[in-house]
Amino acid sequence: MSIIKLVAKRLEKWYDEKGRRFPWRESKDPYKIIVVEFLLQRTRAETIEKVYAEFFRRFPSIESLATAKRKNVERVFSKLGLLYRATRLIDMARFILEKHGGHIPCDLKQLLRIKGVGVYISSAVLNFGYDIATPVIDKNVMRVANRLWGVKRQTDAERLVRELYKYGDHKKLAYALIDLGALVCKDRPQCRLCPLNDICPKLPLSKRDWRMLRKVITARGEVLLREQPVMRVKKKDRG
Ligand code: SF4
Repeated sequence: MSIIKLVAKRLEKWYDEKGRRFPWRESKDPYKIIVVEFLLQRTRAETIEKVYAEFFRRFPSIESLATAKRKNVERVFSKLGLLYRATRLIDMARFILEKHGGHIPCDLKQLLRIKGVGVYISSAVLNFGYDIATPVIDKNVMRVANRLWGVKRQTDAERLVRELYKYGDHKKLAYALIDLGALVCKDRPQCRLCPLNDICPKLPLSKRDWRMLRKVITARGEVLLREQPVMRVKKKDRG
C-alpha cells in the first residue's frame, strides 16, 4: 500500500473514533455550511454549537436571513458576544440573494466575490456543501502537512490533500485533517496519540516560512488569490 493511501486509511479510522462531532458536519446544505464557517472565524466551534439549532430554526434559508431584522439576528447571538457578526451575516445573505437569486454559488470564483468569504470558507462550501473534492486548508491542516510532508506552501499542501482524497471520503478526510491539527498535531504535538506516529517523519515546524493563500481584490475589482507569509495573514479566514 502506498504511504498516501495508508495515511488516508489511518485518518479515516481515527476520525471515526476520535473526530469531533458537530451538527453542521452532518449537513450537506451549502447555506448552513457557509453561515457556520462564517461564524467560525475566530470563534470556537463549541460556542457556535450553542446557537446552531436556534439560528437555523429562526432563519432556515438565505431569504429569511437576508430579510431579517438585525435585532432579531442579534438576539440569537446576544449571549455569546457575537453581536457584531449579525450585520455582516445579513449583508452576506443579501448579496447572495441579490446576485445569485438566493443560491449559494458552487464555483470558487463566484464564492470569493462574496464579501467576508475567503479561500477557507469557499473550499468548505465546495467540499462539505457541494460534495466537490476540494482541499480545505486552515492553519491546523498546514501544521500537519508541514510536519508530515515538509510542505510550506498552501498550494503544495492542496496538491497532496487532493492526492489523499483519491483514497477515501474527501469530506471525512478534510474533517480528519482539521481535527488532527486541532487536537493532536498542535504546536506541541502529541505524537503518541497520533494515528500517523509510525509513518510521520515529524519534520520541524516552520511556520515563519509558510505561504498561505489569501483573497485580494484589486483596484479594478478583480478577485485574486495571493500567497502570503502566514505571519501576515492576521485574520484566519475561517478560522
Ligand atoms: S506524528 Fe506527530 S508530528 Fe506527525 S502528524 Fe502526528 S502529531 Fe503531527
